[in-house]
Amino acid sequence: MGMFGDEKPKKVKILDDLYLTCTVCKHDHFWRGEGRLQTTGVIAPGWSQPAASFFVCAHCGYMHWFLPKDAW
Ligand SMILES: [Zn+2]
Repeated sequence: MGMFGDEKPKKVKILDDLYLTCTVCKHDHFWRGEGRLQTTGVIAPGWSQPAASFFVCAHCGYMHWFLPKDAW
């Protein structure tokens, strides 16, 4: 998967004792990326283009998006 360079997929710690597992296939290694959500402004005022992190499952490719804590 070229879009993430030479980085290897990693486990992702979400909370103190909680690691991310894929919603679809239950895999636990992900590629990390960052971007801005393209919205139509209907979510909430000030959320028109929030910066967010996403984790792509290394097994099935499902994307899991997270907003930074100060955004919610
Ligand atoms: Zn998966």
